[in-house]
Parts: sequence; structure tokens; C-alpha cells
Amino acid sequence: MSLIIENVHLAPVAGPEIAAGWLRIEGDRIAGLGPGPAPGAPGAERLDGTGCLATPGLVNTHHHLYQWASQGLAQDATLFEWLVALYRVWAAMDAEIVRGASAAGLGWLALSGCTTSSDHHYLFPKGRGDLFAAGIEAAREVGLRFHPARGSMDRGESRGGLPPDEVVEDLDEILDATAEAVDAYHDPSPSSMLRVAVAPCSPFSASGELMTQSAALARDKGVRLHTHLAETVDEDEHCLEQFGLRPVDYMDKLGWLGPDVWLAHAVHLSDADIAKLAVTGTGAAHCPSSNGRLGAGVARVSEMLRRGVNVGLGVDGSASSELTPLAGEMRQALLFQRARYGPRALTARQALELATLGGARNLGREGELGTLEPGKLADVALWRVDGPYTAAVADPVCALVFGPALPLVRLLVGGRTVVADGELRTAPQDALGRAGAEAGRRLLEHAERRGVTVKVGMS
Ligand SMILES: [Zn+2]
Repeated sequence: MSLIIENVHLAPVAGPEIAAGWLRIEGDRIAGLGPGPAPGAPGAERLDGTGCLATPGLVNTHHHLYQWASQGLAQDATLFEWLVALYRVWAAMDAEIVRGASAAGLGWLALSGCTTSSDHHYLFPKGRGDLFAAGIEAAREVGLRFHPARGSMDRGESRGGLPPDEVVEDLDEILDATAEAVDAYHDPSPSSMLRVAVAPCSPFSASGELMTQSAALARDKGVRLHTHLAETVDEDEHCLEQFGLRPVDYMDKLGWLGPDVWLAHAVHLSDADIAKLAVTGTGAAHCPSSNGRLGAGVARVSEMLRRGVNVGLGVDGSASSELTPLAGEMRQALLFQRARYGPRALTARQALELATLGGARNLGREGELGTLEPGKLADVALWRVDGPYTAAVADPVCALVFGPALPLVRLLVGGRTVVADGELRTAPQDALGRAGAEAGRRLLEHAERRGVTVKVGMS
């Protein structure tokens, strides 16, 4: 397969922007790019990129795809209230629900320019089929590069944790299932479409022992570590009360800071916490819509960047950021930082870098993803910037980041077309959406049969 996109505005993230240039793809890799007319390449398919902006495909570094099936609930809750309201709903899920929710969630991500997504699945009710495999099947159907994290919780209410005991697993079960997931699915090859991470859920739902043993397992297998951290003030208080340490210090004590770790949220950080993340090379997944929805706070992203912490973006689970498109998180990140720190806190180009190279670094794939450079994987998003309305913005990168989501002309994953002209080409788009909505209806029905009722809204 050989494809040349020509007459296009290139924002490669690495290296200078090219206002009118070309990008050549051979097989699953980028073969070259440059200004002016494309060099001759006999037999190559040519795509006219006039009026379009080409960027690296966006990388989503925090999600819970199963939550597509529980959107619009506990609308006015804090994180802990929201979790307590939803744990028992999620306990009713099965593999079919996860499959439908994940496919709809991934289809939605593809339509907003995402080429690689992580998925943190941490709830495994017994006897409901292979929930981890269900997400992987969905990613294969939609055609996105996938980094599922085998999550876990072993610290239920009876051990001082937040979740009810019925949704947690036993430590040995977790470690066995996690090792099996890595052995069965993790592909370390450079073109990999599937890499597995190890991801105990949070300090308030995973024991210290689960955290340390998970870290040992991940390091033994050569895979990455992920968890939620420093999301809310409540978590700060919980950690101080239960462990005598704030979240980052607690994770440091457990051996959980390092270049193989990325943390979701990292909202409530002190200067010393930021310095620790920088020195250890620990990354952060910034999820501004979810943080806003739950009133969790505004992460110190511009300060983290200044101090050398890697930051990527995440939409977080759809139950705390309904229908959030990944492209929109660039705008949210930019506006949140500017609202807190002023108009020079984050530029449009920096926001694009968070969504691409920052994400690739979180997933340990900066050598293969996150920029448009020869030799990297051909994960590319092509956005229309010359529409009758969008053409009014002088700078295409500004249009992409400052404005609402732009029309997506083409989305390539390893050179394969996943989206063309705003439509999913790998799977039936509307059927996928309907199956996601049906998964939600079934989840609530199952939950009700188990005696769980959920009010829409909080009060
Ligand atoms: Zn999350």
C-alpha cells in the first residue's frame, strides 16, 4: 500500500509545520514528508489534502470503555459519591455489555481523530464471561491501536476501601488473571496493535500489597503500570488517614513512581509531588472534562510541563465525561489552564502535543507514534479546515484546538483507513452506536433485577 496526501497543511508535532506539503505512506509506516508538490511515486494512491490539516493520530491515555453503558447517571456527584452510586450498577455487567459498550466507545473515539486508545478495566464480576477479551474484540473490530490495562480492586469496604466487597477480587486471583492477560495478548513488537498494562484501580480500592505485587509482575513481564492518583481532595484525606501519607508519597513508598508508570488525573499535586514525577519520569494522563464534571479540580498541567513531567490526555470513562470526543479534550485542557494561569499557560501547539506525543510517551511508544516523521507508524488524522464556517479561522491548528471538533476527512491507523469523510469504514457506524445504547439499557435492567436502583441526577 502506497499513499500520498498532497497539498496539505502538515502539523507534524516534531519539526516545523509545513503550510502546503505532502506526506507519503508506505505500508504501515510514514515514508516521507516535505513542502511543495509531492515527488513522483508511480502506483501510489493520491489523496488531495487541499483545505486540510494533517496531524498525528490522537492518543487517548485514560478510559473505562465499559462505562459507555452507564452514562448520564449520578450527574451532580463528587467522585466518591459517584463511585458509590455506580459500583453496584457496574457489578451487573457481562461480556456482551462490555463488548457493545467498548465498540461504541471506540467508534466514537475514532470519529474524533483517535488512533490509539488505552482502556482501564478494573471490575470483574464472576461468571459473566471474559470481560477483558470483550474489549479487545471491540478494538479489533473498530481497528484502533489498543492498550488495555488489566485493572483490579482488592480493598473493599471491610478492609477500609471505598467499593462494596461484592465488586472486589482476591489478591491471588488478580495476579493470576493479570499474568494470563499479559501472556495471552501483549504484543511488544514495534508495529503492535495491542499492548497490555497492569493497573490496580486506585489507593482507595487497591491494597498496598496488590500495588507492590502488581508492580513486580509488570516489571517482570516488561509491561507498563497505570493507576488513578491524586484525583480529589477526598482521596488526599483518605490516604493521609489510612496510610499517613499523601497519594504521591504513598506511591513512591510502594515503588510506583518511574518511567514505566503513568497516572490518571494527578490533579492535587504539591510542588514536591511535581518534582518527584519529573525526577522519576512518571507520566500523567490529564482528563479535564472528567475533572470538571466531578468538580475534582484543575490539574497543574502547565507547571508540570515546565518542570519536565510528561502529560498526555484522556477522556476518562464515559460515565464521568459523557460522549466526550478526544479532540475536544485539547480545547478543554487549553481553556482549563488559561482559566487558572492566564492566556500564555498553554498554546494550541502544546495542546496538540499533549494529545499526540505526550500520549505516546505515556504508553511507552514515542519511538513509533505521536509525530509525523519518516519511519514512524502511519497513524494520521486529516481534518477539514476550509469548510464554509471553519475557513474563517486564520490558523488551522488554532481552528482544531480552540474550536469545537473539526470534520474528520480521513483517519489512518498503520496506513489503514478507519474513518473517511466523517464515517467509520471498518464497522457499521450506526449499528455500533445502537449496540452501545442497548448495552446501557441492559446493564440498568440487570442491575435493577439485582435490586439496584439508580436515580438520574444526584439529589
Ligand atoms: Zn478513570
